[in-house]
Parts: sequence; structure tokens; C-alpha cells
Amino acid sequence: MFKAVLINKDEAGYRAALAELDEGALPAGDVSIKVAYSTLNYKDGLAITGKGPVVRSFPMVPGIDLAGTVEESTHPAFAVGDAVVLNGWGVGETHWGGLAQKARLRGDWLVPLPAAFSARQAMAIGTAGYTAMLCVMALEQHGVRPGDGEVLVTGANGGVGSVAVAVLARLGYRVVAATGRPQEADYLKALGAAEIIERSTLNAPGKPLARERWAGAVDTVGSHTLANVCASMRYRGTVAACGLAQGMDFPATVAPFILRGVTLAGVDSVMAPYALRMEAWQRLARDLDPAVLEMMVEEIALGEVIDTAARLMAGQVRGRVVVDVN
Ligand code: NDP
Repeated sequence: MFKAVLINKDEAGYRAALAELDEGALPAGDVSIKVAYSTLNYKDGLAITGKGPVVRSFPMVPGIDLAGTVEESTHPAFAVGDAVVLNGWGVGETHWGGLAQKARLRGDWLVPLPAAFSARQAMAIGTAGYTAMLCVMALEQHGVRPGDGEVLVTGANGGVGSVAVAVLARLGYRVVAATGRPQEADYLKALGAAEIIERSTLNAPGKPLARERWAGAVDTVGSHTLANVCASMRYRGTVAACGLAQGMDFPATVAPFILRGVTLAGVDSVMAPYALRMEAWQRLARDLDPAVLEMMVEEIALGEVIDTAARLMAGQVRGRVVVDVN
């Protein structure tokens, strides 16, 4: 038997609870894992609270991330005892996920735990941190360099935002953090933000073009915020868009793209190819200071996941939540 968060949807409604499950109930897969740590991302918050249509089949063990040790494997790349990390691939959505003491899944989805990180640190990073790195890599790929000007991070107190601020600052960018929680300014400055701006300056309908300010931007918020960020990019600047915390809509015009040559780079972590994942994890080992990462972490037990997911959805969680599943 093992403990897991379990989501059900039936005549009694949509609900998540801590459950004791039989290992025989685990889904098919070529690798079985003893989970050490998992984490809570925005998507897990949506799944657990039922606020978004993340879960595709029921009952479902949520958790889009896990770090643990291989217990059984018929996959050629993984042997018993290997330390592994999983991010995405629909795990916690269509396949039982990481908010559990055990998991069974496809070895093709796993990456080896990078030598630079413990399982706990890998989950402090989690999908949120790995996505932040993908965003930074997207800016670099489109030519944004530290000397080019200021870089904006929206949703800065969140998981993706916190890691993006820390990595960009360490790489030498002047990072401006947009947040609805200016009372967390000291935290954001400790991560490396040079300046804090109120998200209220960005989240209402704006003009097609505004004063040129940002050489690059990482947007975790979407909606009017993303439209306004695009409108205030400098000539040939790049926005890496990965999130929808304000909304999935994008009420923008083409003006920034056709008049200023702005690039809107979409970032997806869930189906990102293996080589890109490996590159992102290697870059995190190099460009994220573990001491700064630790500043972002709130650690909870499996039994606290459901309450914490509600807090996450209410915008009350700062940084990253690590779940000690044991
Ligand atoms: P968090 O909940 O940790 O952070 C979200 C942050 O967004 C909040 O902390 C808050 O920051 C800000 N925010 C919340 N509500 C609003 C609002 N109504 N208007 C403006 N800002 C708001 O989530 P994550 O960091 O885990 O994820 C951030 C986003 O990125 C999510 O939308 C998530 O779905 C997406 N994502 C996408 C991935 C991909 O593959 N494309 C992968 C991972 C995440 P503050 O308090 O500073 O204002």
C-alpha cells in the first residue's frame, strides 16, 4: 500500500483527498519509482481544486513532477537504484502522477537526476523552474543579451517568476519584477530583481503601442498583461510567453510585431523534446544559485497538499512548494 492524493469526479462531485492505494492499482509502465519528493505547480493547483480542466480521466493521482529512485525497470536506460526526475508528459493529467509515494510510468519520459541536484532541489525547481529556464533560453535564442536593456518578469512571486528572476539576474540582466504583491519586494530583490513594479500597471486594457522599455520579457500571466508587455517591448525585443495566471485570452494587436519587429516566443514544457529538457536542466545546474533557490522553498507534507493547492490558486503562495511525500 502507498499514500497518494487522489482526485475523483462522480455523482458526489469533484474532490481530492489523501488516500491509501494498492500498488496493483498503479497504471502500466516500464519503470516503477519510489517517489522522494514532488511539488505543487499552478497546473497541480488547477487539478486539485478542479478550477481548470487539467485532469482527463478519473480517478487521478495529480502531480506533474516527481523525483525519486527506480524500483523496477524493463527500460534499457534505467536500472534499479537510479535517481530520476519527471516533468510533464501529461503525468498528473492523463497518467497517475507524482503526488504519491509510488509511481509507474514510461521510462522515455524520465531524465536522470542531474548530478548537481538532490531530489529535493530538483523538485524545488520542478516544472515551474525548468519552464523558467526554457523561457530564458528562448530569449537567448532570439538574441537578447544582458547588455541590451531591462528584462521584465511578470507574476514574479510565483514559481516560474521567482526562478526566472533569479536566473536572469545571475546571468547579468537588469531584471524588473512585476507583481501584485509589492510587500514581497525584499524577497524579489534578494532573488536579484533590480526594480519592482505593480502588476496593476500592466493588467488593464492598454494601447497597441506604448513607450519602448523592455529588451526581453518572461510572461507567466497572459491576457491584457501579455498584450501590454508586447506593446512596451523595445525594437526587435523578445517576449517568452508561458503562462495564463491572469487569463488565456490575448487581447492584443499586431502593431508590436509589424512595427517594432517584436518576437513572441511560445514556451511549452510539457511535450518539450528530450534534448531541450536536458539542456534546460544542465543550464539550471550552472545558472541557478542553490542558495537563492532555497530562499524560494516552502516544504510541506503530502497531507498538506490539498490546502496548499487552494492557497496557490488564491495567489497566496510565494516561490516554490516542495512536497515530502514520505
Ligand atoms: P504560481 O501560482 O506559482 O505563480 C503565478 C503568479 O502569477 C502568482 O504568484 C502571481 O504573482 C501572478 N498572478 C496570479 N494571479 C494573477 C492575476 N489574476 N493577474 C496577474 N497576475 C497574477 O504559478 P507557476 O509559477 O507554477 O505558473 C505560472 C504560470 O505559468 C501558470 O499560468 C502556469 O500554468 C504556467 N506554466 C506554463 C508552463 C508551460 O509549459 N507553458 C509550465 C509551468 C507553468 P504575483 O503575486 O507576483 O503578482
